[in-house]
Amino acid sequence: MIYLDNCATTRPYKEVLDTFVEVNNSYFGNPASINKYGKTANKLLSAARTQVASILGVGVESIFFTSCATESNNIALLGSVEHKKDFGNRIIVSKIEHPSVLESFRELERRGFILDYVDVDEYGFIDLNHLKSLLTKETILLSVMHVNNIFGAIQPIEEIVEILKDYPKVHFHVDGVQGVLKNPINLSRVDSYSISAHKFHGLKGIGILYLKSRRTVHNIIFGGGQENGLRSGTVNVAAAVSLAKALRLSHERIASAKNNHKEFKKLIIDEFSKYEHIVINSPFSDKFVDSIINISLPKIKGEAIVNALNDRGIMVSTTSACSSKTFHLNEALYARGLSKENIEGSIRVSFSYETTKEEVEKFIEVFIDEYNKKFKEVIESGI
Ligand code: PLP
Repeated sequence: MIYLDNCATTRPYKEVLDTFVEVNNSYFGNPASINKYGKTANKLLSAARTQVASILGVGVESIFFTSCATESNNIALLGSVEHKKDFGNRIIVSKIEHPSVLESFRELERRGFILDYVDVDEYGFIDLNHLKSLLTKETILLSVMHVNNIFGAIQPIEEIVEILKDYPKVHFHVDGVQGVLKNPINLSRVDSYSISAHKFHGLKGIGILYLKSRRTVHNIIFGGGQENGLRSGTVNVAAAVSLAKALRLSHERIASAKNNHKEFKKLIIDEFSKYEHIVINSPFSDKFVDSIINISLPKIKGEAIVNALNDRGIMVSTTSACSSKTFHLNEALYARGLSKENIEGSIRVSFSYETTKEEVEKFIEVFIDEYNKKFKEVIESGI
């Protein structure tokens, strides 16, 4: 099988699995215990935190382990508003966020905050003028993702930080799940940033929340006070250590992976552009990451394309793995103003640090074969 659904999740590196087993086997103590095993576990946890902090270029006191990026996003969003609620009641989110962000905002709206959605342009970039028009002295929270998970647009984080200089009360949260390592970001410029290990060959069930300042976010989970009181619950030391390992290995490989991804994306776009009915929703541009390509066959259902490729040993995704079981138009593509047919017919192809040129060439060959044999006729008969 050829796996090109790496935005949904990646295969854990062997070293990551080995680390997880070894830590669980030999260093299973509770890092909060003061006995020998506890102390060893705590040392490993500190070393993992130090390594993550050094790769991300921030202080160790800013790194908090969580169970996933969904949890990181929830803590940052609900917790920062809890801290800031006496200063205002307006909150802003972009229309193209992951459900873990959008649904947190909808929960805040149910709790009485006034929610505004900031528009994106036809390529999926935040409309900065619209953002300026929405910001008020009452605004206390803004969330914009680093890289979009459906089509790969890199958002103008630095420009947003500049705009926010006039609004010092705003907590600026960035969902970094698809952007970390792939696109440089200066974390000291944002208030919070979330990461998920399973997107870079780590394990599911472990994430990071970076906080510029712990004071600016109230905890929303109550208990034993782990992670400086932000995220109570016994820390999964083996998963934290394996996250640090996955981040380090991916960090070492990112330069060559990025070169490969550029070549792969170019191969696909050059070939697919020859076919009249294939639409590329992720242009070849330095404003998009090269690891994600969104492609549509308008008039064909994305699910039919995914199934046809699956039957021939190639795994890609409908527009979001998280929403592929319920049928609704993808919100992020809809926000770009793409047609219903284009959205329904969209698939996402995403590369990992380990994707090879042979795999991409095979994908191109099979996709074009299916297009010629099955889809082209259906599309043309409906025109
Ligand atoms: N944010 C983005 C942009 C994502 O792509 C995902 C996962 O698909 C998440 C958040 C949620 O991550 P997790 O699976 O760690 O909860």
